[in-house]
Amino acid sequence: QCANVCPADSITEKVEAYEVAAAMRDPEKIVIFSTSPSVRIALGEEFAMADGSFVEGKMVALLKKLGADYVLDTNFAADLTIMEEASELVERITKGEKPLLQFTSCCPAWVKFAETYYPEMLPHISSAKSPIGMQGPTIKTYFAKKMGLDPRKIVNVAVTPCTAKKYEIRRDEMNAAARHLGINGMRDMDYVITTRELAMLAKDENIDFTALEDKAYDDFMGLGSGAGVIFGNTGGVMEAAVRSAYTFVTKKTAPAALYDLKPVRGLEGIKEASVDIDGLKVKVAIVYGTANVRKLIEKIKSGEKSYHFVEVMTCPGGCIGGGGQPKDREYKGDALRAKRIEGLYKRDDSMQLRLSHENPEIIKLYEEFYGEPLSELAEQMLHTVYFDRSADLGGVYIAPTEIQSAAG
Ligand code: SF4
Repeated sequence: QCANVCPADSITEKVEAYEVAAAMRDPEKIVIFSTSPSVRIALGEEFAMADGSFVEGKMVALLKKLGADYVLDTNFAADLTIMEEASELVERITKGEKPLLQFTSCCPAWVKFAETYYPEMLPHISSAKSPIGMQGPTIKTYFAKKMGLDPRKIVNVAVTPCTAKKYEIRRDEMNAAARHLGINGMRDMDYVITTRELAMLAKDENIDFTALEDKAYDDFMGLGSGAGVIFGNTGGVMEAAVRSAYTFVTKKTAPAALYDLKPVRGLEGIKEASVDIDGLKVKVAIVYGTANVRKLIEKIKSGEKSYHFVEVMTCPGGCIGGGGQPKDREYKGDALRAKRIEGLYKRDDSMQLRLSHENPEIIKLYEEFYGEPLSELAEQMLHTVYFDRSADLGGVYIAPTEIQSAAG
């Protein structure tokens, strides 16, 4: 069962919060936190706040109180992921250089699952890194230069709902900033701590979380759109990507219906929709849980189903239900997940900025650094590669025909 839930070698949570606390005490180090969308919607549960409470301001205040030098928003990098991933999808549809169907790539447990069980699907997985995979190298290059910081002194910490991200940041290839700057041994992201670990640090320091005054993220890489907010739940990445892909294809703003894409929302394990992009019917599917992923992939392989774009998350309900989130001690299950999801959509609804490509900090980042989505520099820093890990299963694959002939 566990192997199905977490195929990323992160079944048990490795606590790194104390190493991060030690880095904050070291005056030589510059500790920069980046917080994922789903943390701000669940952290309050650790302090007896109502399920789904949106505690972004208190979370930033907590990190500053603990000793963070900068607090940045991974929603910014979620917008960046959408820029790259939606551009890649548009290229797959219009240029045909890479095969269609594109799978999302931001869930490391899904990526590892595909590398292990479905390596034939790897060319279909977007090469775009996950938001924290993009945030890390962008901080150690663009942000460091802008702020006059020595990248060697930066300790990048991602606060995530996810235990699998601890594995993701340690993949060999996650050292784009080191390659770009010619600094040996530097990692793009140094630590991942979970929502629960952050709560633990607050409790250790006897900080009264509920009494904290809201604080805002730091500038440059601290601003995210509503599209970045909804990344945290099943269907959110799809909806965010469709909003921007519409504009990339048509050069027009997406119609209101694409801001409230009902068929991709909700807690069913597999959802499907057809999105009309100026006459082009884009077939999408959203799936979570590896059992559902297997079902869907087998249907795709048999030809029973075909799609242009499929979002995959392994945790129930997406990252809001991640393995590093507060424990569901009262066994509320989907009722709790629905509250967390509601909190994210409420936040998206209340925002003026709801499109990744309209985020002024993203526009500035491309103007000042990356040039444009899928540029040579963007490919080096923001895209990655995957590996066939099917041999990790410990046996040699035997085709059914070989078994039959051996038996016969
Ligand atoms: Fe991590 Fe789960 Fe989100 Fe995947 S779905 S990125 S495993 S929290």
